[in-house]
Amino acid sequence: MTSDKRTALVTGGNRGIGLEVCAQLARKGLDVILAARNPTLGKKAMDQLERRGLPVALITLDVTDPRSIDRALARLERQGIAIDVLVNNAGVYPQGTALSSPEAHFRETLETHFFGPLRLSRALIRGMQRRKYGRIVNVSSGSGSFGEGLEGPAAYCISKAAMNALTFKLAEAAGPHIKINALCPGWVRTRMGGPRATRSVVKGAETIIWLATLPEDGPTGKFWRDKKEIPW
Ligand code: NAP
Repeated sequence: MTSDKRTALVTGGNRGIGLEVCAQLARKGLDVILAARNPTLGKKAMDQLERRGLPVALITLDVTDPRSIDRALARLERQGIAIDVLVNNAGVYPQGTALSSPEAHFRETLETHFFGPLRLSRALIRGMQRRKYGRIVNVSSGSGSFGEGLEGPAAYCISKAAMNALTFKLAEAAGPHIKINALCPGWVRTRMGGPRATRSVVKGAETIIWLATLPEDGPTGKFWRDKKEIPW
């Protein structure tokens, strides 16, 4: 089964890159579930997409809260919705060095960029394996790349490096039909990236969309920017 309509779940879908990914996947004809931790902000984003002629569904999901993840997954199961594409996009960017950052920053970034994606991926991969189709896109950062010098705030870099390692090990375990990749979107004009960033959200979403819709012979277990492989 490779040509049926696919369903995608995008975490942190209410603004920034995540919102643009929801829009572009919907435009490509996928059924999109916009996941947001704040239902009011999620509803605003959903309504905004609706006005653009891009209807999506909404689910409340805080990736740092295992109960919230489990509730969202149970709701999808009750509704008979199978997720074919998971975009682990939700992100936070606390400042500080390895010495100055409070331990809470390390916990928050690891919960957001590692444990949340781990729980969601493991739960959804089972169904993907049964259906012999799955795409998981981990929205990481060059800041998580040893090869690029782990440049940036310590907790953020360390958690994105953990997300990268998770990508590699999940891809290894999930088998050939599930394509699991990480990417850096570049420096993107969002609340996180700030107004001086060099890229639009449209450009920032480009490689995510490519990885979310890879063909059966597409790559897995790699790290990308602008559709080109970059070093872990
Ligand atoms: P953004 O505009 O700050 O948006 C972050 C999104 O993540 C928001 O929707 C936020 O929800 C959500 N989020 C944060 N914590 C969450 C949680 N616990 N549960 C669910 N959602 C949560 O950031 P962005 O620039 O679009 O970033 C998207 C991804 O790209 C991130 O993973 C980021 O690390 C990565 N990235 C961005 C850049 C850049 O230059 N912008 C560069 C490299 C990588 P709320 O609205 O509720 O806060």
